[in-house]
Amino acid sequence: MAVSFYNFEKLHTEKSREELLEKFSAIMSKNQFIEGEENHLFEENFAKAQKAKHALLVANGTDALEISLKALDISPGDLVGVPSITFFATTEAVLNIGATPVFIDVNPRTGLLCPESLERMCQKFPLKAVMPVHIYGQCAYINEYERILKDRKIPLIEDGAQAHGTFYSAKRPVGSSENLTTFSFYPTKNLGAFGDAGAILTQSDEIAVKIKAIRNHGRGPLEILGRNSRCDTFQACVLNYKLENTHKLNQDRKEAAKKYYQKLNGLPIKLLPDQALETSSWHLFPILTNSHEERRELMKFLSSKEIGHVPFYEQTQHDLLPLQKFSGEWNSASFFSQTVLCLPMHPFLTQSEIDEVSDAVSLFYRS
Ligand SMILES: *Cc1c(COP(=O)(O)O)cnc(C)c1O
Repeated sequence: MAVSFYNFEKLHTEKSREELLEKFSAIMSKNQFIEGEENHLFEENFAKAQKAKHALLVANGTDALEISLKALDISPGDLVGVPSITFFATTEAVLNIGATPVFIDVNPRTGLLCPESLERMCQKFPLKAVMPVHIYGQCAYINEYERILKDRKIPLIEDGAQAHGTFYSAKRPVGSSENLTTFSFYPTKNLGAFGDAGAILTQSDEIAVKIKAIRNHGRGPLEILGRNSRCDTFQACVLNYKLENTHKLNQDRKEAAKKYYQKLNGLPIKLLPDQALETSSWHLFPILTNSHEERRELMKFLSSKEIGHVPFYEQTQHDLLPLQKFSGEWNSASFFSQTVLCLPMHPFLTQSEIDEVSDAVSLFYRS
């Protein structure tokens, strides 16, 4: 039985199609295509869900990062710390505002930005901001970063593009901290639009005003240079509609993760630390193999059984061509990128699909 990596068929049901088409029709009647009522509604609802004071919609998750950097007055030439393992957009945002990335190594087990490496990079470079990533939906070590950065007055921007439904601790969702937190609503994220969209969460009234101005050509009370990073009303409408069910879908991901843990227990691979079962949104389900060759063989084996798998992220940031000239640390990240493999993860995985995937991985290691 083939097992796919994602499942959009079950996510977008016939009923949701009909209900959304009605809402789209209402937007067309009002001719409110940009920053309409649905935008304000979603910003309110999303802020409430993430326990933040303000949620500001923007055009996509990369813009959310760029605009956050600008809102904190990070300027061309400034140094910004980014983890050596992340999706390229994190570093891209730094480069696009003319700042320079400094790579910080990751924890070898989780791929999350490593506090000890952060401490070393802070001593070596005058960092102006640090952008940890809640990678795979795990919760990054925010308390430890804050302990290192507070006295140095270096702000954090949390990249929460994979963290809709991630918690720092019971009842404290990602987005409720004092840092700026960014989200992406790219269709494959845990909360996805029917196109591009993103958001920034903040507790600061002042920063919220600034973000509103930057996303809309600098309009408003501030005299600053902005750009166009507005979110259209259709996307806000989809997000508002889907937000209601997101908590339930994240619970279903967690249940699937728990089943994987039961089935994969005892194999010579590493899973994320058990804590992830409490705090992660399970955007992805990574396992760590023991060597690059072993991962290659496992991928071949899974392909032969038509089981979806993706080696997110198979290169460190420093491995990427446009980034090879930048400095930092990536020792643990190198091994991580060569051995990590993501197995199918979505809210609609059935027990028999989980059995199929787990049995294939078991068979690979036991034969
Ligand atoms: C998806 C993603 C982004 C970028 O989001 P876009 O909406 O595609 O611009 C940024 N960071 C991380 C970690 C992501 O996974």
